[in-house]
Amino acid sequence: MNKILIIEDEQAIAELEKDYLEMNGFEITVCNDGKTGQEVALNSDVDLIILDLMLPEVDGYEVCRRIREEKDVPIIMVSAKKEDLDKILGLGVGADDYMTKPFSPSELVARVKAHMTRYSRLVNAKKSNHNDILEIKGLRIDKTARRVFINGVEKQFTTKEYDLLLFLAEHPDEVFRKQDLFKEIWGMESVGDITTVTVHIKKIREKMEDDPSTPRYIETIWGVGYRFKVS
Ligand code: CA
Repeated sequence: MNKILIIEDEQAIAELEKDYLEMNGFEITVCNDGKTGQEVALNSDVDLIILDLMLPEVDGYEVCRRIREEKDVPIIMVSAKKEDLDKILGLGVGADDYMTKPFSPSELVARVKAHMTRYSRLVNAKKSNHNDILEIKGLRIDKTARRVFINGVEKQFTTKEYDLLLFLAEHPDEVFRKQDLFKEIWGMESVGDITTVTVHIKKIREKMEDDPSTPRYIETIWGVGYRFKVS
């Protein structure tokens, strides 16, 4: 996530922006008019757009509006006139930020980084919605694929171990009695077979804990049962 499109007709400004952003590890494409800029924005993968307002062919308002119809990529608008910025806001063209020229390159870089971070979070959140993911304290359960990862490393669980772990993780900080867990996971009225739960919890801990005797995840509540610890 580091591709930036600069749409700017003033060569000197475009060069300055390009140099500073490249120094900060970004990959830059420059377009010098609105029409080309809009085409590149819509037809290639860019992660952020710096868009000048006064442009030949198609102006920045229109370019911004057009991009927004199709993409939620961050757009920072720049203009030489402060008054224009009120207009950008007033028109609600969908820009994420705006700056008045001349601005310091370091301010531009700071804003670019801030928007990039926010956007990559958004993109990642969308990706993980694709599969149903539960994440707590380094534990990641992909419910769609029934896969479990601890700090990024996949761990293998049996069906019942998985069901038990997921059930507890989906009810963080709630204490469950062993007999209730048994009923929940094994799905039958239990009379005294709650040692099955104890055995399964032990197995789960061996797989997910660095030190199973002082568990970080599933805590024993003596005389009661278990709880998935969040804090
Ligand atoms: Ca201009």
